[in-house]
Amino acid sequence: MASSDLPDNPHPRSFTFPKRSFEKKATVMRSFRASWFDKWTWIHYSECIDAAFCHVCAKAEQQEKLQGFKKDLAFIRNGFSNWEDATEGFCCHEKSRCHQDAVQMIIVLPTLYVTLANRYPWRMLKVK
Ligand SMILES: [Zn+2]
Repeated sequence: MASSDLPDNPHPRSFTFPKRSFEKKATVMRSFRASWFDKWTWIHYSECIDAAFCHVCAKAEQQEKLQGFKKDLAFIRNGFSNWEDATEGFCCHEKSRCHQDAVQMIIVLPTLYVTLANRYPWRMLKVK
């Protein structure tokens, strides 16, 4: 995924997500659901390819903070679009080592650093 395709703003919920049928039940059309944004706040939806990415993992990948052997490429580069088993796919990604590490790198550590810097500004000056 190109870095320009990773906005920091949430995806507009009013977007009409395209519907597709899946092999198992060809008559049932499925699409991405806006409610998934509430349950999995890290989801980034790409209109271009009608697929979901993980905002946190993609960001960690951009900053070269992920180690190669545990990258969940479906959510980083290729895009996840199996809406039929989406809940399972999202749960599975959220529990993955890749995602856990990315959360630490992108969300937990920077917040911790800011908190410490505010509390002990004289110490943090030396860290650079
Ligand atoms: Zn992730």
